[in-house]
Order: sequence, then C-alpha cells, then structure tokens
Amino acid sequence: MCDVSIHFSNLKATLIRELKLAKNSIKIAVGYLDFELFEKTFQEINQEKVSIDIVVDNNATSTGNKEVLDRLKAIGVKIKIQEMLANDKGDVYGKMHHKFCIIDEATVITGSYNWTFTASTVSFENFIILRNNREAITKFTNEFHLIKAITQERLKNIQEPEKCKEEGCNGILLNMLVLLPKFTRDGNLDARIVQFCTSNYEDHYSEKNAIAVPVLGEVQEKLENQYHQLVESQISSDNLDLTNDSYALLVEKAYSRYSNTFLVDILKSEQVHCWGHLSPSIYGDDDPDYSISISWKDRFVEDQIDDSYATCFDLV
Ligand SMILES: [Zn+2]
Repeated sequence: MCDVSIHFSNLKATLIRELKLAKNSIKIAVGYLDFELFEKTFQEINQEKVSIDIVVDNNATSTGNKEVLDRLKAIGVKIKIQEMLANDKGDVYGKMHHKFCIIDEATVITGSYNWTFTASTVSFENFIILRNNREAITKFTNEFHLIKAITQERLKNIQEPEKCKEEGCNGILLNMLVLLPKFTRDGNLDARIVQFCTSNYEDHYSEKNAIAVPVLGEVQEKLENQYHQLVESQISSDNLDLTNDSYALLVEKAYSRYSNTFLVDILKSEQVHCWGHLSPSIYGDDDPDYSISISWKDRFVEDQIDDSYATCFDLV
C-alpha cells in the first residue's frame, strides 16, 4: 500500500532507523553528506549484506574526511563524488544538490535535509517518506542512474560544445537518439543517433551511427502491428491519426518508464543529449510527414532542445 509520512524533527534518528531496515539495497544522492556522522550506520548496514551506492556533490563537507571515505570504500560502499560544470576559469557553478535516498526499491526519502550535523541539529529542515509509491521509486531511481552516468567526457562536451560547421551558422551540434518504429533483424528496436544543429535542424544535420535498443517484449508485437497498419495499409486519415497517437503513446509510456535501463547503457559509450521517437502521420495520398517527439533531454542543454521536431532527418 502507498503511504506518505512527513517529518520536521528527529530527522537523523528517523533516517538511520529507515536505513537500518534495508534488506537489499540503498541508493543515496545527497549534496552534503557528512560521512563521519553516518559511518557507524553504514558499517552496521553493510554487515547485513545490503549494497550501498552513494552519489555526493564535490564539496568539503562530503569529501573532506578522506580516511572515512577510504574505510567505507574498503567495506564495499560505492561512493561517487559528482563533478559538475565549470566556467572557463575553472570555477564550478553547478551542484549535485539532491537530498534523496531509495531503500530496497520500495521506500523513497526526500526533502530539504542534507545529511550533516547542522541540518541534524540547528536548522529547519524536512523530509517526506514515500512507501511503495511506484512512480516515485521509478523516477528517483532513473534520476539516480542518470547522475551516475555523467562522465567527465560528457561534462567536457557540454562545456565545449561542437560548433556547427555550416558557413555563417552560430548553432551548436547536439546528438539526438531517435527510436524508429521498426525492428532490427535480431529483434531490437532500430534507433539512430543524429547530430543536429540547434540553429537550423532542418538543414544542418548528419546521421552518426545506428544503435540497437533492446525491445521490451510486451511492446514489440503492438509496435509492429501499429507500424504495419500505418505504413502498409490503406486506412482513412481519421484512423491514421488515432493509430499514430497510440503508437506515440505506447513508445512514450514504455520507454520513458524504462529509460534508465536503455539510456544509461547507451550513455556509457555515446554522447546523447536527448532521445525521442519518430512518428509517421499520413495525410491524404501524399508521402507521410514525420515528427520526432522528445521524451528526455540532458538537463545541461535542455533549454536548447525543442519538445518536438518536424522532420525525420532522412531516416526513413
Ligand atoms: Zn547550423
């Protein structure tokens, strides 16, 4: 059953009690985490064979005590110190500012509370405990994996984006992963990475490489049916709009829900700034028109990415 509890006092003790209830896994993304304050708790939890995976911001509170960090790493606690964007002088201007944790893929704790002495004693803080809330668990888990997938190379690419080479164009080049409504021979969903210009995506683009996105079994048959209906049969335009909408909805629902599982793997080897799915729509007897609906944007460049693009980038 889905359950919410809201807390303003006794936060550290409440948190530690929840952490100690973990049976399998704890994922923590907290900007400021005083490891000394929680070392004993983490040690006790680890002895119970619970995996602890932590991302913290790169700041003195979280990283100041190297000995504690080393002791925790030595007993198997995973700790990622998240580097952020820096300006050309090297000053960092972003923060990994979350304060959430996910326990056993069943409980989410989130609020203003940093895991520090000050927040635990003299500050006004809060957190909310969400139990068995599927949407919260999925979204926070996605966010956790996406932060873990941020590499130095990706930050460098954001800080020094590739510029469009077309004469007189001031755009930058971003990479879009496009899911196509068709399948590769080995049963994956066909997808392509397209490099497009933020100033003129209709003319300035190039296809980079093909990617096979694992198909969610439950989706494959439905997608195939939709695609064949859409492209190969003669259906009135009213019906086609309906079909098109339901195809888009299907992909959006299925892949947005699982975006951590397919996107995080791709981000390990590819620079992807957004992903979307290609939807055909056919009007009368003309060739089909296509558009790409964007389902995910890299937050560092999201203001330069539209919600949809009226093109197929010559992919069909
Ligand atoms: Zn351009």
